[in-house]
Amino acid sequence: MRALYPGSFDPLTLGHLDLIERASGLFEAVVVAVLQNPSKTPAFSLEQRLTQIRSATGRLTNVEVGIFDGLTVQYARSCGAQVILRGLRALSDFEFELQIAHTNKSLAPDIETVFLATATQHSFLSSSVVKEVARFGGDVRHMVPTGVADDLSRLLNRSTPEP
Ligand code: ADP
Repeated sequence: MRALYPGSFDPLTLGHLDLIERASGLFEAVVVAVLQNPSKTPAFSLEQRLTQIRSATGRLTNVEVGIFDGLTVQYARSCGAQVILRGLRALSDFEFELQIAHTNKSLAPDIETVFLATATQHSFLSSSVVKEVARFGGDVRHMVPTGVADDLSRLLNRSTPEP
């Protein structure tokens, strides 16, 4: 069975990566797909996010990377995924995730949403927390893959005004 793991991944965190690694052991293939969302202004371009995911998952031979816009269920069909994979960190994720899962089920009854619980050590991690900590000069190397930590320092250095 193939699983689609959709998200913003702005940027990829070790929480996302842990989910991808565990899912790659459970499913024949995992398609990690970055949502192109015109209503959000991301910190990282689509290309940067794809590169971050590709380099962090390169050793996992059954992980594919893609981009999509529009309905997740439509993209799931087009890439042959029978499962949409999402992560749960806390009760606060639950309400939103359950609503999306029901919506997707109503649109595509043949596609199942599967939730994986976060790893305990990553339960506090989100892309926004990572960006917030990095913006204020905090060390994020225990939160993101090395490539992402480098991208974050480049991003923040660039946006620092010239003296
Ligand atoms: P979205 O904008 O679609 O929520 P995210 O990139 O924030 O995109 O998250 C994608 C998925 O990964 C969501 O299901 C989210 O709950 C899950 N996720 C995010 N961070 C973690 C984490 N630390 N542990 C487990 N799952 C996570």
